Amino acid sequence: MLTPQQRTLCQPGLKRLAHPVLPLARLAGMLFLTGPFADLESLLAELTEPVETAGIRYEQPGLELLPYLEAMRPFERLKHPRPPSRVIFAGDLQPVDPFTAIDSWVAQNVLTRELEEINSLLCGPCGCTLCCTGPDRGQQQEFFEIPLSAREAALFDLPRVDNDMSRATSAAADLPLIITDIPFYQRPAALYHWRQGWSMILPRLSICPNLDGASGGCRIYPSRPEVCRRPQIFPYMLERTPDHDREFDGRMLTAFLIRNKMLAIWDCPYVKQFQTEIGVYAQMCGMEPVFKENKA
Ligand code: SF4
Ligand code: SF4
Repeated sequence: MLTPQQRTLCQPGLKRLAHPVLPLARLAGMLFLTGPFADLESLLAELTEPVETAGIRYEQPGLELLPYLEAMRPFERLKHPRPPSRVIFAGDLQPVDPFTAIDSWVAQNVLTRELEEINSLLCGPCGCTLCCTGPDRGQQQEFFEIPLSAREAALFDLPRVDNDMSRATSAAADLPLIITDIPFYQRPAALYHWRQGWSMILPRLSICPNLDGASGGCRIYPSRPEVCRRPQIFPYMLERTPDHDREFDGRMLTAFLIRNKMLAIWDCPYVKQFQTEIGVYAQMCGMEPVFKENKA
């Protein structure tokens, strides 16, 4: 459990959880589709008076939505059709109507952006380094893997393993990569180039080289990798399903299934502490909250 002082420091994050922007984004989407607006900018410029929707009052709706303009951009496709860039199915693989498809796309975008900020507000006060360390003695896993792009891999001062054998397998393969007679995960932390690309492997009791042991903070916080920005509460409105990608007009359209869930990782101290608030946030966004353990 968090201390009273930590809970106080989490108040800015809790205020955001109690005031999700998605209901407002959906209302704005309806106004845009039914009103005389050429683009979303024109609509937001008109939203200067307070509005209430889903029991939430938004004092300055246009300004509140401004940071989410690009996230909401798919709404414009319903008014000004463009060649498709993705294909969205219901969870049972049945086709869905265009509004449902676009609404789920916007919801995924808006929530991804909002939850990244809420995660940062809640993570800082916890003084926790779980996401930046390898498994401890009591955990089942032998190692944790942090996937990285080639550019992100350059941010880590670690030995590299990049050869034909590493590129032919993956960290999750049944037969582990053996280096000088021992499995890779029994060696010190390192960067590996696998079949799918780069990742950092944090073996048991190891720590990320960018973790500042004294402060418990990340030394490269502003430029930390994409995966380190992912919240422990994250939207699972759409699931990417490459097996259902479709060819259209000589191009491949990326496929997604609508899941309409919000996942929260139970290992995280603020998820445990604020389960009720997270559940209410998910419901206000019209989604089912799901709590699951990650690092068992
Ligand atoms: S790069 Fe920063 S945020 Fe990511 S694992 Fe390392 S210390 Fe943690
Ligand atoms: S588990 Fe939660 S509190 Fe701990 S470092 Fe990760 S996001 Fe932050």
